[in-house]
Amino acid sequence: MSLNVLKIAALAGDGIGPEVMREAVKVLHAVEKKHAITFQITEAPVGWAGIDAAGKALPDETLTLCRGSEAILFGSVGLPERDPTIPKEERPERAALLRLRKEFGLFANLRPVRLYQTLAHTCPLQPERQGDGIDLLVVRELTGGMYFGQPKKTEDVEIDGVKFRRAIDTMVYTTPEIERIAHVAFQSAQSRRKKVTSIDKANVLENGVLWREVVTKVGAQYPDVVLEHMFVDNGAMQLMLRPTQFDVMLCENMFGDILSDEAAALAGSLGMLPSASLGARSGERTFGFYEPAGGTAPDIAGKNLANPIAQILSTALMLRYTFGLNDAAMAIENAVGQAIDSGLRTGDIYTAKDPAARRIGTAEMGSAIAAAI
Ligand code: NAD
Repeated sequence: MSLNVLKIAALAGDGIGPEVMREAVKVLHAVEKKHAITFQITEAPVGWAGIDAAGKALPDETLTLCRGSEAILFGSVGLPERDPTIPKEERPERAALLRLRKEFGLFANLRPVRLYQTLAHTCPLQPERQGDGIDLLVVRELTGGMYFGQPKKTEDVEIDGVKFRRAIDTMVYTTPEIERIAHVAFQSAQSRRKKVTSIDKANVLENGVLWREVVTKVGAQYPDVVLEHMFVDNGAMQLMLRPTQFDVMLCENMFGDILSDEAAALAGSLGMLPSASLGARSGERTFGFYEPAGGTAPDIAGKNLANPIAQILSTALMLRYTFGLNDAAMAIENAVGQAIDSGLRTGDIYTAKDPAARRIGTAEMGSAIAAAI
């Protein structure tokens, strides 16, 4: 791959967004020096910052910048306390976040969940259930299923003289939609521990039967990856009982929404969890949108308390999935591991019980990780 200038749109957003984005950019500059890469990082407002700057959660100039970039590095948007008179569809969560997902056809959501050994105390599971460490990847289909299926409505009905209201959501999946997300899961497993657990409800839902059939067919193209199927109710339980059995969990949209949050709890803090949302591959690049799993954390914003690791690890995912720079991605992940192993902790992962732990702020954590690179 030619190592020309790599164009990144950096949209920090609201709350802790700007603080953690600053640290991610610091780390990217360290990567530039170490790995002789040049990033063109252009910052633009989004969310309430977009409304303040240009009257819209996703200003036209920000969208134009995103269209001209190869990846979007996103902070978080939304401040629940701000201006309740603004209608839902103009508020940042819908007008910026959902709009960007739709605009760029981001059908694959990848959420790696990793519990660092030295942070075992932040995991809600007892040590014997953590095995040698929890390390799994949830691959969630993001643009199909019940979230988007039609019809979708609430209506007044009258049946046998009885009047009531009813709500209808429709779950629809087509074979191409299942195939493309299944390929993402199998390819991800190839560079991990080579196992895919496909989650469905094939004992009850037509969608589950088709999902299982298509995933099995796609799986046959990846003989080096072990495929197993699991019903979603059992999957939810197994995540709590024996999370170490999972490598890649492949889920449709709603099951993935629920299980990825359940899995996230295993890592102890939202501040540790990155995510990637990928679109279709075009040429040699896959357009991607990279963001921390958490939100704007208004309770700690502006106080140098936020953990920047989720944002920093999101940049590692960006280097890996959009730019194919696996070594640089690993350098970031190793630097994070080094900072954690040396005892550095933001408040969310700090415990006074650990004598080796040293409590530091957002900026200090970013600087330590950049220095480790
Ligand atoms: P949140 O994720 O912002 O916060 C939940 C809890 O986790 C808080 O106690 C917070 O302090 C903590 N937390 C989150 N990230 C952290 C970090 N990096 N370091 C340390 N602690 C961290 O969720 P919320 O309070 O429900 O939502 C606040 C706002 O964020 C809402 O407006 C919501 O819509 C928005 N939100 C945005 C996104 C996004 O932009 N993708 C995602 C989730 C929530």
